[in-house]
Amino acid sequence: MNIAVDGPAGAGKSTIAKLAAEKLNFIYVDTGALYRAIALYIIRNNVDIENEDMLKKALNDIEIDIRYEDKIQMVYLNKENVSKLIRTEEVGNMASKSSAKKPVRDRLLSLQREIAAENNVIMDGRDIGTNVLKSAELKIYLTASVSVRAERRYNQLKEKGENPDIKRIEEDIIVRDRQDMTREIAPLKQAEDAIYLDTSDMKIEDVSEFIVNSAKKIMNKI
Ligand code: C5P
Repeated sequence: MNIAVDGPAGAGKSTIAKLAAEKLNFIYVDTGALYRAIALYIIRNNVDIENEDMLKKALNDIEIDIRYEDKIQMVYLNKENVSKLIRTEEVGNMASKSSAKKPVRDRLLSLQREIAAENNVIMDGRDIGTNVLKSAELKIYLTASVSVRAERRYNQLKEKGENPDIKRIEEDIIVRDRQDMTREIAPLKQAEDAIYLDTSDMKIEDVSEFIVNSAKKIMNKI
């Protein structure tokens, strides 16, 4: 069974999907991490993403693997575990820019589909329900207001011991939403058959419980 969870940055997708995957004993696939791994390579190698030949050459030199270590997703870029290194705002912003490029999206499509074909997955991203797993049995579109998303991000960074600026985070979220929603290829939007959930006033546990219950109902029917 495949569950697709899409939505904008900071909507709580990964926390919610991880919890639901644990309860359902499904594999959780964070597809943003794959785009981030490519973005890290682009930053490190000064790849000009506007130069298609250069971008394609870079993509040929990239090998990306997903492995599960103690049930936690690890992403390898040319055999290096980059799972921690990709979690910076710089990499996230580059991922948002480079993911709009067709060669980048083409490069990751089959990898995502292969994992979903072989496993029960809950996969989160931006175009999972609309493009990657169009026939997923359950699709969820998760969102929350910009201020709630910024506050969640702010608290996460605070917990990590950083000293974030909430205004800056809000601005980043607005830019990222615009880039992800208005790009030509596979823009972020709700799939017609997805359930829309605004999590601004919901508890993470309640949202994940809703997904688990919906999935169980579908599994009982299959
Ligand atoms: O979810 P996360 O913030 O890690 O994603 C980073 C960026 O990767 C997003 O802003 C988006 O542009 C891109 N992405 C995408 N399609 C996906 C997952 C992520 O375009 N399925």
